[in-house]
Amino acid sequence: MANAKNRSSEDTTLGDAPVDLDATPDVVGAVEADAGRGGLARSASLEIERLMASTLAPGLYLVATPIGNLGDITIRALTVLARADVVYCEDTRHSRTLASHYRIGSPLRPYHEHNGAAQRPRILAELDAGKRIALISDAGTPLVSDPGFKLVREAAAAGHRVESLPGPSAALAALTSAGLPTDRFLFAGFLPPRGTARRSRIAELQTVPATLVLYEAPQRLVECLEDLAAGLGPRPAAVARELTKLHEEVVRGDLVTLAQKFAAKEVRGELAIVVGPPLLGAVTDDAIAFALRAALADSRLKEASRSVAEALGVAKGRVYEIGLRMKSVADDEPDDARGDDRGET
Ligand code: SAM
Repeated sequence: MANAKNRSSEDTTLGDAPVDLDATPDVVGAVEADAGRGGLARSASLEIERLMASTLAPGLYLVATPIGNLGDITIRALTVLARADVVYCEDTRHSRTLASHYRIGSPLRPYHEHNGAAQRPRILAELDAGKRIALISDAGTPLVSDPGFKLVREAAAAGHRVESLPGPSAALAALTSAGLPTDRFLFAGFLPPRGTARRSRIAELQTVPATLVLYEAPQRLVECLEDLAAGLGPRPAAVARELTKLHEEVVRGDLVTLAQKFAAKEVRGELAIVVGPPLLGAVTDDAIAFALRAALADSRLKEASRSVAEALGVAKGRVYEIGLRMKSVADDEPDDARGDDRGET
């Protein structure tokens, strides 16, 4: 079995000499002068050569790969993939495009949600035998809405080195381009595809005091945005589509407007939804009850809750709950003190 070590498998030295990142003034000048003469290509290939010549310790390497643009891969990721004894991926045909582009000849083998249970003992045996195993997914960071968590858990429990090579992830690319607060965010993955389950998951997210990042399929975008708008109110949001690709776009607006915008056109490609944190803070239950009383004058509780939620930027479920409480208080009052009850339950 491989021993887990504390230090990284590749140290930050050039040959035997440690890189002194503070001693740069002369280097910066030299780099600028050299850049136009292919200096960048030379430096990058030197770094590749250096890493290729270094020893890659046995262990499991989680390697982030591009989410569209093949250029979005780190030098270290390339050299780990090139030196790995086996690269496990979701779909070998898909990952061959990346491997061929960079002429990486390491064997590709499938690891996905349908064969994971059968493959794990084999991978653990390979780790026991001192192999260097890389795990990638179809795109982005493995394990992020992709397979790998159980493999990491078992490899770590068996004492193997597990190293993550950070790089692209649609979640972070979407978050950073949305123009919404980034100090706290919750990655909520894919919401359930069915309406009822999706709406109850959204209800769970209503009070999360953070920006939300979600993945969604293009054919479900509009219904998902509609449910988000109904459940969370008109919060500021963004749909980040085809990031790093030719037709990349980030459409920003509140959830209601976005739902309307996307309903009017065919949605294609891969996308992520980013929703700003709750606007509520300042909106008290009393303020909601006040607005609700007015709205109930000419509509039923359901419609009134929806319009108040939209007007105040609060969750419809919260307004409805307050409406129900108001109604039960009214029901407890003597008949002559009762206002207009429209029989809504
Ligand atoms: N592991 C990947 C990552 O780190 O981003 C995500 C895998 S998940 C199965 C795939 C989902 O990510 C897509 O359905 C889409 O929601 C999102 N996605 C992937 N690539 C994207 C892109 N280029 N632009 C926007 N969203 C993307």
